[in-house]
Parts: sequence; C-alpha cells; structure tokens
Amino acid sequence: MSKFLIAGNWKMNTNAFEAEKLSGYVAGYLKENPARCEVLMCPPFTSIASVGETVKGSHIKLGAQNCYHEQKGAFTGEISINMLRYIDVTYIIIGHSERRKIFGETDELINKKIKAVLDAELTPVFCIGETIDERNAGKTYEVIEKQITSGLNGIPAEKIAKCVIAYEPVWAIGTGISATPEQAGEAHTNIRSFLKDKYGEEVSAIKLLYGGSMNEKNCRELLSLKDVDGGLIGGASIKGDSFIEIIRSADELS
Ligand code: PEP
Repeated sequence: MSKFLIAGNWKMNTNAFEAEKLSGYVAGYLKENPARCEVLMCPPFTSIASVGETVKGSHIKLGAQNCYHEQKGAFTGEISINMLRYIDVTYIIIGHSERRKIFGETDELINKKIKAVLDAELTPVFCIGETIDERNAGKTYEVIEKQITSGLNGIPAEKIAKCVIAYEPVWAIGTGISATPEQAGEAHTNIRSFLKDKYGEEVSAIKLLYGGSMNEKNCRELLSLKDVDGGLIGGASIKGDSFIEIIRSADELS
C-alpha cells in the first residue's frame, strides 16, 4: 500500500456513455497493472452507479462531488448521503471552491455536510484554498485556517482524523497554472502543523491532497513533496491517459 490517494473530480463532464468509456479505459489498465495507491473517481451523480459497474474488480473507489446533509424529505434537487452510500460511494467532495463561489456554499453549510458525511461513516474530501486576491494580500493562512476551523467546528478530533483535506488554491483550479512546488510544499506543511497544534497528533496524520491544475507533467514534483499525500484532479482526470500517468507516477514515488 502507498500513502497516495489519486482522486478524479470529473465536475459536470461526461454523459453516461462517455463516463462508461472513460472509467472502462482506466479500469482496464488497472486490472492489468494494479495500482498500489488508492484511486478514486468522482463522476457526475447520473453516472456514479454505472461507473461502479464498469470498474468492478479494479479497486477503483467511487466518490461523489457533493451531497446534502439532511437524510431525506422536501429538498428538491438534492441528493442524500444514504442514496450515495447505497450505490457504493465511499468518499464525498465537500466545499469545493466552485460550490463555494458559484453556488454560495458557506462555511456553516460545509460544516453540516462534513458532520453528516462522517456520521454516515463515509469520508469527506474537504476542500480549502485561497483566492489570488487573498494570496496577494498575504492572507493565505488566515483564510485557510478559518476555512478549516469553521468547516470542522464541533467535530471531535477522532472523527476529524478520518477526513481527507484537499488544499486547492482557487487561482490554480482549471487555469493550467498549478502552484509551484515551493508554494504547495509550504502550504501543506503549514496546514499539517496547524492541524497538529489545533487538534493533536492523530489529526496531523490526515491525508492532505493537492489540487489545482495537477497533470501528468507536473504531478511528480508535486507528489514528491513531504506533506502531499495525493491529488484532487479535475481536467486531467477526464483524460484517461493523463489520469493513468498520474497514478503511475504516484506508484513510482511510493
Ligand atoms: C478540481 O476540480 O478540484 C481541480 C483541481 O481541477 P483542475 O485539476 O482542473 O485544476
């Protein structure tokens, strides 16, 4: 087993046919060449179940890109955690910057979702990260620490230890310009030491993913960093060969 988690966030891409083709391609490769790192695919809701069928026997895990924190009821358009668990979802991305920015998700809502995911014994992939204005104003750590403390508010340390945190500088997401290894390394080391000071040793061992324009070319440098335990990958995860190359790189580094 390796420490790495390589997670694909497909965002609002792929119809059912395309999702089957993409997941089948990656699963086919991994059936022949099993990975030592953990591999996660987060397709759109409409394809999670069929991707689950397609990747059976490949060790690829299934994730969702969002959920609602209530269990059921009059919440038109929302998807509950139980619905996701029923189709074998084990990870749920929470607080992605696109959900914060485009859909107005607040730290308080994100906190409710993280609590609900943990209560259901699934793993939240909790996204944090600063905008370019916040970075330029020297507020990177102030912003990140507030996102962490608000998102994890009221959650006991033994449960926080079961979360995955993805550091995703907003300015690097979908732009083709990833954080430099220096920027990512510094942020990850700071986040880990903040987690240790605030919640203790157990929580500081949490998996910390880097996200933001990671691809088959820059992944080695980023994954080599001491406090980087994997990647949350958008654009490059919907290109089968790129995603496979990132998985291979993680395996070579572990
Ligand atoms: C993401 O969606 O979380 C992400 C990091 O996207 P991209 O890799 O395309 O920047």
